[in-house]
Amino acid sequence: MISQNPVFIPGPTNMPEAIRRACDLPTMDHRSPAFAEILHPVRRNVQAILRSESCDVFIFPGTGTGGWETALSNTLSPGDAVLAARHGMFSAKWINMCQRLGLEVVAVETAWGEGLPAERFAEILAEDKQKRIKAVLTTHNETATGVRSDIAAVRRALDAADHPALLFVDGVSSIASMDFRFDDWGVDVAVAGSQKGFMLPVGLAIAGFSEKAMAAAENATLPRSYFDIRDMAAGYAADGYPFTPPVGLMNGLLQATEMLLEEGLAQVFARHRRIADGVRAAVQAWGLELCAVEPALYSDTVSAIKTPDRFDASRIVTLAAEKYGVAFGGGLGEVAGKVFRIGHLGAMTDVMALSGVATAEMAMTDLGLQIDLGSGVAAAQAHYRRTASDHTTIKKDTA
Ligand SMILES: *Cc1c(COP(=O)(O)O)cnc(C)c1O
Repeated sequence: MISQNPVFIPGPTNMPEAIRRACDLPTMDHRSPAFAEILHPVRRNVQAILRSESCDVFIFPGTGTGGWETALSNTLSPGDAVLAARHGMFSAKWINMCQRLGLEVVAVETAWGEGLPAERFAEILAEDKQKRIKAVLTTHNETATGVRSDIAAVRRALDAADHPALLFVDGVSSIASMDFRFDDWGVDVAVAGSQKGFMLPVGLAIAGFSEKAMAAAENATLPRSYFDIRDMAAGYAADGYPFTPPVGLMNGLLQATEMLLEEGLAQVFARHRRIADGVRAAVQAWGLELCAVEPALYSDTVSAIKTPDRFDASRIVTLAAEKYGVAFGGGLGEVAGKVFRIGHLGAMTDVMALSGVATAEMAMTDLGLQIDLGSGVAAAQAHYRRTASDHTTIKKDTA
């Protein structure tokens, strides 16, 4: 089916025309100076989006998952302990990767819908007198549950225990959409991917390394080869890659980062907040609840919406796809069948979000849920009318 409908999955996200076109380059010699003119500005722009003055940015062909491996394999050694919480599909999968790589995971089981247990982390770090824990793994935005966690609180937990562990942040579904502060939070490795806030096709793993993480990379002994940042750093120093880079995607990332910085990060975050608030107003009007247990945890990039007991939420996703040609996210792992997800990140506007809310409403009504058709749309409209300004469109999509 050919459809111009936007997608409402929390990645891959909708792609602005200007970004699609920027990805579509004729073949370029990646050893020519022209590539350096893409590479260096991209790395600077990503650094700015991470809100860092000095982190080293590495961009690998890959996906967010490759970014996880980049963080772990470059800084840790076999048998090292890491601290993490399992509170959604993505944090669970990162823990699983740690185990497969031969790390010891101190995993704090946390209810899905809750945020990172910073207080529990503080206790565990304070008890770790031998400093066996080498890294704390955090998922800034749990895409499975629509939960945003407080990374600054984890940094405070580390500092309060005077603990030297590295702080890793999975920001795959938050970076470039929600406030992220590499330097202020004392992040050591931040991980992102191309297909969420950066509005690009799938294909890039993006990582920022602090000075401390760069130093750890000198002594770490986990096996690493393709994702070795030392090879990549040597490539960058010579204006290129240690292998063939995906030049089109890199040029797309240059376009995307220019668009984001031109819109202004504060404005990008405010746009996501406003759109999310409208979606949340709709959820409330439907009489439904979010998986995230309290407002402080509400994600501005994805809403995981609980459906009534004994109703299989995946039916909404299937019906919306088949009948209306609109993609929503299903429930993953522990919340499979219990939630459906509306992704509202990247190249999203209030008007687009209204179409998603309207479609979800049609699908739920078709399936016999007690939803007043139009109630969510009206609630979202009220919010968007009240908060409209002339700054909400995505700029520069006319290039
Ligand atoms: C999407 C996502 C990932 C995985 O990224 P891939 O690009 O699918 O490998 C990891 N963490 C979070 C929080 C995500 O949303």
